Amino acid sequence: MSAAGADVADVAVIGGGVAGAAAALTVAGAGRTVLCIGPEEGPEDRPGEFLSPAANAILAELGLAELVDSGPHRVANATYAAWTAPLLAQRSAITHTEGPGRVLDRPAFQHALSGAVARAGVPRLASPLAAVERDGGTWRLTLADGTEHKARFLIDASGRAAVVARRFSARRRADRLVAAYGFLTQRDEDVEPTPATLIEAVAEGWWYASLLPDRRLALAFFSDPDRLPRGLSRDPGLWRAMLKDTEWVARWLDSAGYEDFAAPRLASAGTLWLERAAGDGWVAAGDAAAAFDPLSSHGLTSALWGGRRAAQAALAALDGDAGPLDRYAATLNGAVGEFLKQRRAVYAEVRRFAGQPFWRRRAEMPDAPVA
Ligand SMILES: Cc1cc2nc3c(=O)[nH]c(=O)nc-3n(C[C@H](O)[C@H](O)[C@H](O)COP(=O)(O)OP(=O)(O)OC[C@H]3O[C@@H](n4cnc5c(N)ncnc54)[C@H](O)[C@@H]3O)c2cc1C
Repeated sequence: MSAAGADVADVAVIGGGVAGAAAALTVAGAGRTVLCIGPEEGPEDRPGEFLSPAANAILAELGLAELVDSGPHRVANATYAAWTAPLLAQRSAITHTEGPGRVLDRPAFQHALSGAVARAGVPRLASPLAAVERDGGTWRLTLADGTEHKARFLIDASGRAAVVARRFSARRRADRLVAAYGFLTQRDEDVEPTPATLIEAVAEGWWYASLLPDRRLALAFFSDPDRLPRGLSRDPGLWRAMLKDTEWVARWLDSAGYEDFAAPRLASAGTLWLERAAGDGWVAAGDAAAAFDPLSSHGLTSALWGGRRAAQAALAALDGDAGPLDRYAATLNGAVGEFLKQRRAVYAEVRRFAGQPFWRRRAEMPDAPVA
């Protein structure tokens, strides 16, 4: 259907990221009309490339079981961590035990998801949502390009912005974790870099390095905003100097010839969630509903899961059954509570920096959602 003009779509999905794609595919797969609103993700790099093995079941439900088998992704065979002690130990994952996942070519993964949505016949309106209002049982959506569209149900999959859902529910924040991140190119291609992921705790936070399928290295430092050096996002020298605090990350970069440093970019990476992830005529999915500290490495999987389940609940609500919507919101609350407990336990394993503000704050965190 053409959903523009006077037509009213069954569902409008705000955001074309991972959660938005899963939601749009689910609604279209049920034979209902759906619009996907928001800019296409471009080919540029963005952080978040580890896909947990738990994602496979949801990809299969979406009819995309082959998505990560083909394409440029690599099997994540080894994660090393210098976490509890300054020694490097191999671990399958830091907060779950489901075996190896995938290290994605993230733009290619997103491109494949968006391609599946387009093939399902979902119209893509590439302009961001600018305003929304409810008129009886119909949402009126105004996009930044001035066009207007209508839908009976809204799925907010706009990531941490939660552009619609934040109007209807309070948001809770457990911390202000921030990531400084960049992608390094190898200087000497004769050196075969180890296909691994490495996590290392330091006094001011923790480092993450992972070999991407194209041999570049994804590098990130996670800390609190007040613990990062001023001007870091403009100064590659500062970024490089911070590596001196590491033992293993610096050694890996050096031995495999990664030295092409641009200044890092900064991204919010804290744990943040909606008190209520669904209401009358709307539901939130992915980071819009609950965004997790990336130590968990399950943001992408939660986004796939949330997009799918939120859409199923929306379809039931359109048929007059609000039960799945309530259960979805309750399940998310439970998952947040469980995550906060796990997060506290994993950070508490690091005792060697106990006096440092970054680690002290994590020891003092509540391990249940604050009501
Ligand atoms: C530094 C860092 C590292 C991470 N590493 C990992 C990892 O290794 N593994 C993992 O699983 N997860 C990781 N994550 C988390 C993961 O990236 C997110 O959980 C995941 O991208 C959430 O997907 P989403 O679709 O909910 O949101 P997003 O991917 O943020 O997509 C939201 C979409 O909404 C769009 N949008 C925003 N505003 C509007 C608007 N007004 N109108 C229309 N559209 C709008 C945006 O353009 C975007 O396309 C990491 C996160 C960070 C910050």
